[in-house]
Amino acid sequence: MDIEREAMVETQLVDRGISDRAVLDAFLQVPRHPFVLSPDRDWAYGDHPLSIGFGQTISQPYVIALALSAVSAATASAVLEIGTGSGYQTALLATLAKAVRTVERIGVLARRAQETLDRLGYANIRYRIGNGVLGWAEGAPYDAIVVSAAARTIPPALVAQLAIGGRMAIPLGDGFSQKLTLIKKTPDGITTEPLCDCRFVPLIDAE
Ligand code: SAH
Repeated sequence: MDIEREAMVETQLVDRGISDRAVLDAFLQVPRHPFVLSPDRDWAYGDHPLSIGFGQTISQPYVIALALSAVSAATASAVLEIGTGSGYQTALLATLAKAVRTVERIGVLARRAQETLDRLGYANIRYRIGNGVLGWAEGAPYDAIVVSAAARTIPPALVAQLAIGGRMAIPLGDGFSQKLTLIKKTPDGITTEPLCDCRFVPLIDAE
């Protein structure tokens, strides 16, 4: 699995221009196979998303790497993740940042992710089951927010909970066309910058 992980980092990340050393090291450290369903373990390091049940997917490594580099996760103290899903990206965030809060609306997925992350020894993560569109006010302001499901519009609560100087990566769009977008919060408001085309499951604005 170590060899597969190294190959994933070289061909899927380095060769496509991911150069943030801390992000690449995190991908080398964090195993991906514990986060996929057992029938898919042989494909865990492939260049694609995989089903994790409930119609949800573990994101493609490259898209995660782009988001984590864009929000400068390695220098963040407080990070918020919306859409825990498998917990794989949560593990990468917990490796890069000081403290991570993660919100997932599907209880079974949240509990499964927490079990896996506890077993692997990650101790700087807090978990919540609920509607991530509302963020997690108690931990704000966040230096970085990573949203792993696609929104039609930028959720105002997430902008409110971002620190000035903070960064958020969020897929914006619908089922047909989406752009992974970087949002930076400045004293004067926000700036937005599209990073790449992407395809995420929808962000559902409900408990
Ligand atoms: N980063 C995860 C991505 C999982 S897919 C991984 O790589 O495994 C996106 C996740 O977002 C799904 O688990 C879905 O249930 C969750 N989600 C969708 N809308 C949500 C919302 N409003 N609040 C919290 N989680 C949400």
